[in-house]
Amino acid sequence: MIHTPHTLESFLTLCNEHQIHTVEIAAPDTQGHLRGKRVPVDRFFATCVHKGVNIADAMFVFDMQNDLPDNEFVNMETGYLDACLMPDVSTGRLLTHRPGYALVFSDAFGEDGKPHPLSPRAVLAKQIERCREQGLDLFVAPELEFYLCDADWDRVQNHIQYSSLTDALELEEVIADMRAALAGAGIEVEGSNAEYGPGQIEINCGPADAMTTADNTVLYKSIVRQVAVQHGLRATFMPKPFTEESGSGMHVHTSLNAEGVNAFADAQHLPNELMAQWTAGQLAHAPAMSLISAPTVNGPKRVRPYTFAPTHVLWGLDNRTVLARCVVAPGSSANRVEFRQAGSDANPYLMLAAILAAGSDGLSQALELPAMTEGDGYTNPGEATALATNLAGAIEAFKGSTLAGLLGDDFAASYVSLAQAEVALAAEHSPDVDEVNDWERARFLEFS
Ligand code: GLU
Ligand code: MG
Repeated sequence: MIHTPHTLESFLTLCNEHQIHTVEIAAPDTQGHLRGKRVPVDRFFATCVHKGVNIADAMFVFDMQNDLPDNEFVNMETGYLDACLMPDVSTGRLLTHRPGYALVFSDAFGEDGKPHPLSPRAVLAKQIERCREQGLDLFVAPELEFYLCDADWDRVQNHIQYSSLTDALELEEVIADMRAALAGAGIEVEGSNAEYGPGQIEINCGPADAMTTADNTVLYKSIVRQVAVQHGLRATFMPKPFTEESGSGMHVHTSLNAEGVNAFADAQHLPNELMAQWTAGQLAHAPAMSLISAPTVNGPKRVRPYTFAPTHVLWGLDNRTVLARCVVAPGSSANRVEFRQAGSDANPYLMLAAILAAGSDGLSQALELPAMTEGDGYTNPGEATALATNLAGAIEAFKGSTLAGLLGDDFAASYVSLAQAEVALAAEHSPDVDEVNDWERARFLEFS
């Protein structure tokens, strides 16, 4: 069943019907990793649902290995304060791949009782509010790729068989369990296919409002990893695990509705004004978005010509060589812009926040689309701005940008300091700009 928002009563009934013994109170950290507490179901409904649970605010300044690089907002001097995770029962889900467990997403509050400024859920909520004030009714769908590996993190295959229905039937048993677990958690599964990499898989999920989609996406990553482990395998969302193979992306599809009808739809096979401005905003802020799309040294290595990951600020119609792919036909309810920049390690809350901030800025400023790209955007990018191909370049494009300001000054400063720590580490351990080495794999395979 697709997730519909719960009341306290309906979530309690669900937990009783499914003999839930443990509720996970979850919040995404800055890397997009779900953290929180497991509590007995009785305690959840008696206490936690009203008072929340406490967790160290260090979770918002961790790097991917839980080290704590210097941070001006959360540090030894501030004493690593408690953040309170307040469950939002409307988001309650069953974890059917682990019978007896349910999960609720929560919002993080600081000791001053205000939303924690570094909490990715709070950063996204602010942009959703901004879009709401503009009267925008948004639909968002993610498209995530990942690699399946064996228990030692080697690829499960040596060959590529894109979208084959014949090859690798033994892997289908695992992927079928993933689809079932996703559906069990209320995530609408549209389909899965073998991607253009050995052991690379894509599972597509249906659209929802922005917060539900961000919640669905982090839960998707957690479920896919856990089901892989249940089968003695591993799944990785590292964006470029193998130098010679395809990277993994997180493409984000957005559309706007007006009075229940797709509002990009009155076009003549071309974006109408609303779609054009929404897309133009995403293009205008794309250079700064590079850092949210690829927050470590590994993600920028995915940004190379002829990989189907975008290298320049270009848009087109049904064209997979550009950054923004506009799918548009008169009268279609499926009209949407697919933004193809993010790697599979991008934090979905932050990526959606950036896309909403950029798109709504395009509308506020009535931005115009540049000329449309037809054909191969890699060979013929023309005068288009090139996207960052290393982390230092992405930091430079983000720091002090309009987008950084829109997302919040404190958040942006903290995010930049995390990225700068990654640059310093990589200078020592992974200086090659193209090659993906074992240090990177040890650092990023498991937790991206
Ligand atoms: N793997 C490509 C990427 O890194 C995308 C391939 C596709 O078009 O699905 O974005
Ligand atoms: Mg794909």
